[in-house]
Parts: sequence; structure tokens; C-alpha cells
Amino acid sequence: MNTHTLLSVVAADSRAAASPAPRPPLVNVDGIAKHYLLPGLGRSFSVKSVDGVSFAIGQGEVLGLVGESGCGKSTIARLLTRQTTPTSGRVTIADQEIANVKGEELKRLHRTVQLVFQDPFGALDPRMQVGTSMEAPLAQHGIGTRHERRQMVMHMLEEVGLDESFSERYPRQCSGGQLQRVVIGRALLLQPSFLICDEPTSALDASMRTQILNLLTDLKRRHGLTMLMISHDLRVVRHICDRIAVMYLGRIVEIADRDTLFEAPRHPYTRALIAASMLDQTGLYAPEIQLHGELPSPLNPPLGCHFHTRCAHAQAKCSQAEPEFEAASDTHQVRCHFWRELQPEEPAENGSAQNRRNRVN
Ligand code: SF4
Repeated sequence: MNTHTLLSVVAADSRAAASPAPRPPLVNVDGIAKHYLLPGLGRSFSVKSVDGVSFAIGQGEVLGLVGESGCGKSTIARLLTRQTTPTSGRVTIADQEIANVKGEELKRLHRTVQLVFQDPFGALDPRMQVGTSMEAPLAQHGIGTRHERRQMVMHMLEEVGLDESFSERYPRQCSGGQLQRVVIGRALLLQPSFLICDEPTSALDASMRTQILNLLTDLKRRHGLTMLMISHDLRVVRHICDRIAVMYLGRIVEIADRDTLFEAPRHPYTRALIAASMLDQTGLYAPEIQLHGELPSPLNPPLGCHFHTRCAHAQAKCSQAEPEFEAASDTHQVRCHFWRELQPEEPAENGSAQNRRNRVN
């Protein structure tokens, strides 16, 4: 299977839902960076976990953030929830720069921005019944009477697909998928305007993963949720996101609406991630766009284009000059010197011999 055919298969699969219309932004991330100094080594030895990232998320929009482990995705979640402070840049949510928020406003921010983590077991107190865990944030924020809070919890359990009896269970008496429903319900009880999901399905098996993604898709539709969906897996973000940003070594290398990203990816890294997700899903193999090697250390990233040590299209310029983030269209940006030459319909010449070894399960 050549590049074109592979990408066409992916595009057909991703065409099921419509592209998003432009919306007024709720979240603005402007040139944000997080550099960690290494103790005893001084300023010149810093890890650039996030390095000048900018994006906006519209009201009711779901933005996907994908990339390999260690590329900086979870640091962005921590920056957006003020669990860590940026080295530079700023984050604005609902027109408020979050670095300046204090007192009651900070409490309100903690209510309106909710985070769902990868590990639901770690997110819940094992000594507390599920209902008590779900009720606790409501009590902390002074919402409702005890009776009203219990009613809200029961209603939310139903909304996330669990019956009322779960309120009396302990976490050890629930499956991972059931607990992730509880965690999502607990976050939604606070009626957040912005929900961040950091690898919400990666600790779950395939059938549970589909169920949780279907639940999030359904909740997004019913509540008009604005979300950031962080995942290493393109299949997850394709399921639910309106737009997708691809990260590599602390930077966004491509961002586009979902259909464009799957139908006309311009960055070699995006193409490799799509190929990898298809390999997992179908066994189809496209060696010319396969990703090879490990993610380089963020302590010592490659000069020029960070991706040049793994890129099948790298040329001399790539190790010498950093590519700019350029607009391929109004809704599509890419960071590659040669994106114009990487047409999605271009078949890979050197793939023919290897393609004979393609595997189709
Ligand atoms: Fe590959 Fe060069 Fe583009 Fe980087 S700039 S992605 S190394 S072709």
C-alpha cells in the first residue's frame, strides 16, 4: 500500500463527522514555554518540556493534542490548570489571564477548569464510597445542601451510564471503565466551562476505551463542552476532536481541522503517526512513512528541525535551520521547510519493493 492509498483509507474513516465551524475562543495559549533547570548544571542545561506553544480553543470545540510520550503534552495540561507556572508566555481562559487570578477568582477557576487523568484508580480515595467522592468537590465549592448534592450525584451517575447503586461502592468494587465514568461525572458535576482529558482511555482495554470515548462524545454533544483531549493515540483524538495539534519535542509541528489533518497531512511526523495508527488498527504497512528510532532527549534536542534525525525527507537545510510555523491554509499550519513538496497524493517511489512485504490482517 502506498502513501496515498493508506492516507485515503484513514481519510474515509475520519470523514464520518463534520469539520467544525470557526467559534469565538474560550482558551488562548500564547507562546507558552516551560523549561526545567537541572539542579547543579546551571541555566545552559535546561529541559525545554514546552517551547513556545500557541493555540486557541473555541467555545464548544474539542482540540486534540497528540504526540509521543515525553513530547510535553501533559506539561501543557499542568500549565492550563496552574499546577505549574510557565517560564514565558500566557494562558487566557474566558478572557482571564490565569497567572493573575487570586482568591475567589482562583477558586472559581478551579471549578470551571476540570481535569480528567489517565488513571481513575489514582484519582479516587480508595477508602471513600464513590458517591462520597463525587459529592466532595460540590461541598468544597459550597454548592447545594447535602440532600441536593446527593440528588445531583445520583443524576450524574445515570448520565455517565451507571446506576445509583454505584454511589455505595468502593473503588476496588468497580472496573477501570466504571471508575473513569465516575471521574468524568465528578468533573462534570462542577459544570466546568473547560474540560481537559489527559490520556483518559490509555489505562483501559479496547472495549472500555470505545465506551469512554462514546460517553465523552455524547457528553460533548449534550453539554456543548469545550475540551482539550490529550493522547498519544491518533485513533482517540480522531474519534472526538474537531481540530488536532501534533506535538514533537515541546513544539506544535502541525495543527488543522480533523478532516484536513487526516486527508492532507503535510508534516512527515504527522504522516508517520497516521501510518502507525493504521498499522495498529489494520496491519496495513507503509514503510516509506513509518516512524523509526526513539524520541530524542529534550535535554539535547537536535539542531535545526527537531525531527530531522528521524525524518525520511530530511535534507541538509533541516539540520541547520529551524523551520517556521507556516500557514498551509486559513485553518492549517505546519512547521516543515518542505511541506509544499510533501503532497498527500504523492506515491512513495522507494516503497514499491518493500510494499510487497506489506501485511494485511
Ligand atoms: Fe523533515 Fe526537514 Fe521537514 Fe523537518 S524540516 S520535518 S527534517 S523535511
